[in-house]
Amino acid sequence: MVKKVAVLTSGGDAPGMNACVRAVVRSGLKNGLDMYVVYEGYLGLVQDNIVQVDRNFVSDIINRGGTILKSARLPEFKDEAVRKIAVDNLKRHGIDGLICIGGDGTFIGAKKLTEMGVRTVGIPGTIDNDVACSDETIGFDTCLNTICDCVDKIRDTTASHQRCTFIEVMGNRCGDLGLYSGIAEGVEMIITADHPIPEEEIMKTLIRLRDGKKKHSLVIVSEKTFPDLQAFVKKVQQETGIETRAQVLGHIQRGGAPSARDRILATQFGVSAIEALLQGESGICIGIVNNKIVHYDIYEALALPRNKHFNLLRIVGLVNR
Ligand code: ATP
Repeated sequence: MVKKVAVLTSGGDAPGMNACVRAVVRSGLKNGLDMYVVYEGYLGLVQDNIVQVDRNFVSDIINRGGTILKSARLPEFKDEAVRKIAVDNLKRHGIDGLICIGGDGTFIGAKKLTEMGVRTVGIPGTIDNDVACSDETIGFDTCLNTICDCVDKIRDTTASHQRCTFIEVMGNRCGDLGLYSGIAEGVEMIITADHPIPEEEIMKTLIRLRDGKKKHSLVIVSEKTFPDLQAFVKKVQQETGIETRAQVLGHIQRGGAPSARDRILATQFGVSAIEALLQGESGICIGIVNNKIVHYDIYEALALPRNKHFNLLRIVGLVNR
């Protein structure tokens, strides 16, 4: 049975990661475990940036955005010799369990540590919602609300000047942020990698809208859907004669206090990760499916298809345009 457990955050930061760290630490201590944190993700494991903590360490962080443990990307972690340094550092502290909060890449790193003798559990923490084994990831709900807040504001000026605005949202090739925010904002068009719209149709739709009663339009675009959004909106303006702007929301989407929903999800995941380690599970990740907390082998989880938003895709054509 595990006795000493560490937690780290890795990959892109997401609101709610702190709430999850808090739940892991508090739940571990309640179960009689010694609890540790690792700073800067896998980089901190390799650099032995590992500290034992008490319950006060995680006081007053449930409402804070970002990650107090910092995050990092360490491509060299793919190299077994680099991971061996991390495993040796954990051994020196007597740490036998590791909880890794992050996305798919973080999960692969965790699984590879499991294969080298460390008990690991992955928790999905990323605004992108691109982890197939979970209906939702920590940070997605907060990010979605931030996007809606931004689009509300952009709507005011777009309507006042009777323009068309293309708003690029994050998602790292996953269309969920675009799809969900587009529906929540009732925009004219949603363009994601899973839901592309041919250029000709985009132009025709905008002209039809301009010729109707509503003189302005909002279009949500997922990042990496257009190679160069600024160049594309120029083309739209030239071909349609409609004044068209591009707004890239950028990192504002990642920050801010986590929503109540993300705090609760993060807490559920954190508690469940400790339970999994206590029950002898390892090399797994946690998810929530149909409102139930589930555990998957990490490799099985990574092989799952991402089809959780199928029902929403079905309604897009009916409510937009
Ligand atoms: P996000 O979705 O926010 O980008 P992520 O966890 O997918 O989060 P990555 O940068 O892909 O972010 O992965 C985080 C870290 O996990 C990497 O910097 C690297 O240290 C480790 N990692 C990723 N892929 C592997 C791999 N194949 N083998 C070992 N470690 C890996």
